[in-house]
Amino acid sequence: MKKKIRREFMLVALLTIVLTAVSMTAVFYELFKKEVMNELESYTRVLGSATVFDAAAAESAEGLTDWEVRISLIAADGTVLYDNDVDVGGLDNHGDRPEVSEALEEGSGESIRRSDTLDSSAFYYAVLQEDGTVLRVAKASSSIWRIFLSALPIVVVTAIVIFLLCMLLAARATRTLMAPIDSLAEHLDECNETPVYEELVPFVQTIRRQHEDILKNARMRQDFTANVSHELKTPLTSISGYAELIEHQMAAQKDIPRFAGEIHHSATRLLNMINDIIRLSELDVMTPAEASMERLPLHQLAQNCVDMLQVSAEKHQVTLSFKGESAYIHGNKEMVEELLYNLCDNAIRYNNPNGSVTVTVGAKGEKILLEVADTGIGIPKKHQERVFERFYRVDKSRSKATGGTGLGLAIVKHIVAQHSAQLELQSEPGKGTTITILFENAGKSVIL
Ligand code: ADP
Repeated sequence: MKKKIRREFMLVALLTIVLTAVSMTAVFYELFKKEVMNELESYTRVLGSATVFDAAAAESAEGLTDWEVRISLIAADGTVLYDNDVDVGGLDNHGDRPEVSEALEEGSGESIRRSDTLDSSAFYYAVLQEDGTVLRVAKASSSIWRIFLSALPIVVVTAIVIFLLCMLLAARATRTLMAPIDSLAEHLDECNETPVYEELVPFVQTIRRQHEDILKNARMRQDFTANVSHELKTPLTSISGYAELIEHQMAAQKDIPRFAGEIHHSATRLLNMINDIIRLSELDVMTPAEASMERLPLHQLAQNCVDMLQVSAEKHQVTLSFKGESAYIHGNKEMVEELLYNLCDNAIRYNNPNGSVTVTVGAKGEKILLEVADTGIGIPKKHQERVFERFYRVDKSRSKATGGTGLGLAIVKHIVAQHSAQLELQSEPGKGTTITILFENAGKSVIL
């Protein structure tokens, strides 16, 4: 970037110098031409002022040959009658010279001809006199090239000065541009304090946000690992303890089935937990584009889930029912089934005997609604935000006693996000909990 800025600065400088030199030379040459022509015109006026300047007058005038200008007198037919510089005998007919023919036609004429040597030009001015002859005055002067060349040293010096100035400016500009970026790159942690210019603010804000996200994620991962280790430890300690008792024959024969039951229970919890952890880490790395999405009959999946959990509901003395109409969403079948299971399972487990759970599916405006409402124990306000965090439980012992892992709602939240759906929780302790999810409607017709 630095190199590019420097290169562009120099290019601009170079172009400016060249264009200025060329245009200034052209302007000066125009002025210079006008000056010379004016001078020649004055000569002709001086020479022809008193009387008609004829060959006799020319011959009689003294010192004409020493004049800086060349004076010629040309007859109307083009014959050169007099020349103060060249012998007229050797001159051809001048009738076709542009300035002469112009003077013959219009009274005066002028022309500039480049001489053989490139660095000088001949300027001609001619007037038609009263006697029909043409008086012509000529002068050799610098050509445009010569003017350009004479200006060249100044142009070169100016160019060098401008060039150096541009380099300095480019270096300063890049330094000003890059300084905050360099300092940010070195001290990303202090990006709040690094002074930046206006245009960089959105960039810094994005970096800051991403940086904070990364730190938050790292912290969450660390917490998660610590929590996982802690959560796995409890059932493993229990398994190890009961197994040891049996191994050393310290358990009475009659206690063995109970101990085995405890081992079985702990092992099941471990398995559930490990399954949930695997599921979460899969969801963590999966982008919504990677999940294979299809058109799903949500009402059918909800009905299946209700049927499947009927036994569990009966065990908890809870009535589990489904109501609703056919509704289609665009989603991943496995994920949606898991979401339904987790919500219904919670609604049963955190319910009271004789309570009920109602699963509702239907259209709500443009969206498809899934609602799992229970008449259970409810969640106090202060816990409502946090129940979606991993391993967050309101009533730890009840969760564990009913086979909870503390990960169910975290998985639900993930799945909802994967489906770009909206989740809402309403709950009142002692009255019950309603979890509502709004999905995008996949319409009635099949999307190919
Ligand atoms: P768990 O495996 O412990 O049920 P979840 O992530 O599914 O974990 O839920 C987190 C916590 O939220 C639970 O421990 C429970 O305290 C509370 N909770 C979840 N669903 C309900 C509900 N329907 N009624 C009351 N409390 C609930």
